[in-house]
Amino acid sequence: MESEDIKWIYVHGEKHLATLNLVPGDNVYGEKLVKQSGEEYRLWDPYRSKLAGALKKGLKNQPIKHGSKVLYLGASTGTTVSHVSDIVGNTGIVFAVEPATRVARELIENVAAKRKNVMPIIEDARRPQSYFSVFGKVDVVYCDIAQPDQTDIAISNCTAYLKPKGVMLLVIKTRSIDVTMDPKSVVIQEAKKLEKHGFLIDQIINLEPFDKDHAMILCILK
Ligand code: SAM
Repeated sequence: MESEDIKWIYVHGEKHLATLNLVPGDNVYGEKLVKQSGEEYRLWDPYRSKLAGALKKGLKNQPIKHGSKVLYLGASTGTTVSHVSDIVGNTGIVFAVEPATRVARELIENVAAKRKNVMPIIEDARRPQSYFSVFGKVDVVYCDIAQPDQTDIAISNCTAYLKPKGVMLLVIKTRSIDVTMDPKSVVIQEAKKLEKHGFLIDQIINLEPFDKDHAMILCILK
């Protein structure tokens, strides 16, 4: 999994995940900045970012690369978006969708204003046709919106913007879908829905202990 942009870094003998800082000297959510071989890296906290949690839990085919075009749904204040921005670098782009104005303001001030590759979109992901700034198709759709209909919303965004053979990373918050159902059965139910809509399931990761009752599904549009 290690690349130019994502690294495992040892700090005081402990192994941490980190991304190459696109904005040297700047941290986004209080994460440590570490110099290694003349480059600055930002430590990536798996308890704050589900993508880091998934990598720590063995995500095999992480699809976000240098130069990738990513549609990110549920950007919040930009914790994970900032690491995705580090990874895609200045030749890539992250369209970051977030409808809640209070957190979106932080996303704009702390992340998008300093990172030219982050395009904030203050919209509801239920209305993908309203994102006027997204151009062309994207390589990856990342969805972390904690809504009961999160899978349907993710699918409609893929229909509108994901290129053929593109990849979706979908975070399933099982309690948002059905609190009464066994969490594993909720994940299986959502995975089946994805298959029915033309996705091939590549990997399902349980995000515990970093996030309780959460899973990440990596699937590919056929
Ligand atoms: N992905 C973020 C990170 O790792 O830094 C955390 C996301 S947080 C769990 C979920 C976010 O989804 C919230 O900021 C919430 O406002 C947003 N959200 C909820 N419903 C949404 C919708 N319909 N469209 C887009 N975003 C939505």
